[in-house]
Amino acid sequence: MQPIVIHAGRAFTPFEEIHDAVVVVHGSKISAVGPRGKVDLPRGGREISAGSKTVVPGFVDVHIHGAGGHDVMEGRREALEIIAATVAAHGTTSMVATTVTASEKETRNSVAGIAHFILNTSQYPTRELSAEVLGIHFEGPFISPARRGVHPAKWIVPPSPALLSQFLEEAQGTAQILTLAPELPGALDLISSARRAGMVVSLGHTDATYEQAQAAIEAGASHAAHVFNAMRPFSHRGTGVIGAVLISPKVSAELIADGVHVDEAAMRMLVELKTPERVILVSDGMSATGMPDGKYQLGMFEVKVSEGVARNAEGKLAGSTLTLDRALRNMVALGFPLSSALRMVTTNPARQIGLDARKGVLAPGADADLVILDDKLEVSGVMTRGAGLTLD
Ligand SMILES: [Zn+2]
Repeated sequence: MQPIVIHAGRAFTPFEEIHDAVVVVHGSKISAVGPRGKVDLPRGGREISAGSKTVVPGFVDVHIHGAGGHDVMEGRREALEIIAATVAAHGTTSMVATTVTASEKETRNSVAGIAHFILNTSQYPTRELSAEVLGIHFEGPFISPARRGVHPAKWIVPPSPALLSQFLEEAQGTAQILTLAPELPGALDLISSARRAGMVVSLGHTDATYEQAQAAIEAGASHAAHVFNAMRPFSHRGTGVIGAVLISPKVSAELIADGVHVDEAAMRMLVELKTPERVILVSDGMSATGMPDGKYQLGMFEVKVSEGVARNAEGKLAGSTLTLDRALRNMVALGFPLSSALRMVTTNPARQIGLDARKGVLAPGADADLVILDDKLEVSGVMTRGAGLTLD
């Protein structure tokens, strides 16, 4: 296969900023990255010039429910392919398909479908641009009825290692993240089971006190789902789960940086306290992502999208239509350096699921997942596993 040589004004690996950068791609992998003159150029390579633009690693979204009119709970190949292609156009080159709370049967069917897709199809994309589905994030059903957001109350169940093991059987090794409420009876046992199965345990949709959240962190929880949203509110004499997440260096914090879910001061506070190494920008995107306003499905229930904001019939926020390119621009607009904001959409999420050698980084041996950004940080080109780069 003909190698591809990409020239750009600069690159962020994201650890390093390289001026006058060259990225060499062989097949689906990056083979070299560096400043022009320091990289051996392959003979007969196809040259792509990105001019003065910036090349960065493709974005990794660990909390996404759907896009392009489809929800991952559909579990069907066509739906997952449309979702993967829709987000790829916005720079998301890999994703963890996220379930919502549903009946045991629906969850098992969805998980079986997603797992089949991951194991048989996602690695061999049929579309030119396609985010790789890396695994499954279970958001529920072991969550707090008091902080359920739009997750249907009737399908919430108490923590059950037996039920988790049924889900894991359907997942065939693709289960990556479990979001649960640690204050529920039996949650600590469930955390141990999930950890033994190699899952990342995430605190979310939770009414936990500070002490309950600390106990979960000691038991192995290392992640927190969309921090501030669907959590017991912070108070100075009862800091709750938010207090525990903010001060524990072991916990990475998801943030929905759309300017609607969390206000500016809270976003700044999160990054200051967690440091840019422990913040993970997520879309929490639902099926209306990349679509006009209207009525859509989130899991099994209907959601109305107006001016890009998704709400259920009671007016509760129901996921978002955010894409990670916009989240990145929002963080830079808040004053964070591009290099810091980039970590939050690339290497931080990849590290959390143990894939930081392959995803979210420009380095030899990593997957050739790249995004070209213009001077306004708009996506001007995307490459997914060596395929699809055309520049506008
Ligand atoms: Zn949620």
